[in-house]
Amino acid sequence: MNHQPLPGGLYIDGTLRRDYRFNPLCGALELSLAEAAAEEGCTADKVTAVLASALATLAGREPDTLLVATLVVGDRQFLMRQLSVLLDDSQRWLSARCTACGSIFDLSYRPSMLPVKNAGQGFPEMSVQIDEVCYRLRLPTGADQSGLDLGKSREEQQLELLAGLLHPTPDLSTLSPQDIEKLDQALESMAPEVALQMLAPCPHCQAENTLDLDPYQSLDSAPDALLSEIHVLASTYHWSQREILDLPRRRRRHYLQLIDGNRDTRGMETGH
Ligand SMILES: [Zn+2]
Repeated sequence: MNHQPLPGGLYIDGTLRRDYRFNPLCGALELSLAEAAAEEGCTADKVTAVLASALATLAGREPDTLLVATLVVGDRQFLMRQLSVLLDDSQRWLSARCTACGSIFDLSYRPSMLPVKNAGQGFPEMSVQIDEVCYRLRLPTGADQSGLDLGKSREEQQLELLAGLLHPTPDLSTLSPQDIEKLDQALESMAPEVALQMLAPCPHCQAENTLDLDPYQSLDSAPDALLSEIHVLASTYHWSQREILDLPRRRRRHYLQLIDGNRDTRGMETGH
């Protein structure tokens, strides 16, 4: 398994900790991930729930939702991508329409190949001077994202988020677009990041295109496939759901292949 440390990390008793470990992958974990992802709620809360059940340790502790919510956004995106590497690092395909010539082309990538940028100087907070006031500015965490008012426009949410990251809290109406730009740049310079976009030349006209990558792709996995695998194993071997869910994924897949192979052979025999 991949032991790339967190690109940011958590300060625990004054020490920056960048270590984490995922639980071994078995049906029980896959099912709890799929169920956490299917829960009602905003994306930030789902990410927190998924990571809290997927991680065995985080910064030397047994993680709960409170600890996971204190991770900065870049670390959370990093962990979600590491989780999708763990679940399935096979090639993904994206389709894009070229912005120059309009033709449609495909592009492939593996989650493990996407670049990661480590946190910069000052992480996770720094001083920023605006007019006469010296602010402390910190990076947003999962808790900041989850507290946002989803009824507001995206722009209003971003402003509200920004105001919460500043100490003392500013009067938003006094911040100019230049001030906001300055704050955004300061955040960017500190933030750990995973690639959220990929550059791809169009194979027809060579124009450079920018494709978006979803850092939370593993939230899309529905439990349906897993449930039907449980059903096949339970009806073939008469194991309990608990026993099946405790199987490491590789062994579960192996049994399913055996069952499949058996069916094919029987199919060929009856075909004669
Ligand atoms: Zn093109």
